[in-house]
Amino acid sequence: MHELSIVANLFELLEEQAKEAGAQKITLVKLKVGVLSGVVPELLQTAFDIYKKDTIATEAELIIETVPLRLLCHQCHQETIRDDIVFTCAHCGSTRLEKKEGTELILEKIELEIDD
Ligand SMILES: [Zn+2]
Repeated sequence: MHELSIVANLFELLEEQAKEAGAQKITLVKLKVGVLSGVVPELLQTAFDIYKKDTIATEAELIIETVPLRLLCHQCHQETIRDDIVFTCAHCGSTRLEKKEGTELILEKIELEIDD
């Protein structure tokens, strides 16, 4: 499962950031996942829940925001937003499209708990 290695990398990043901030706990993690990122949100959620046990993020909630595909048409210069992966312009039917958004996988937000 591709998502497991993504989650493993994510946890390295999370633990690093928590350590830097002097946090004892991660309470929330928010990811932005493009429909073309190659990641299945459900699998990512499952992998996260498996992986988080016995880590600093054991009580963390994972929020996954799906980013739709945003295409710019080179024929009519209009934008098409799709939440599937069909590469045709909604305005003129052209397939000469440029991907503007929807391929990303971004760690958008972490919430930490810091005891002082
Ligand atoms: Zn078009």
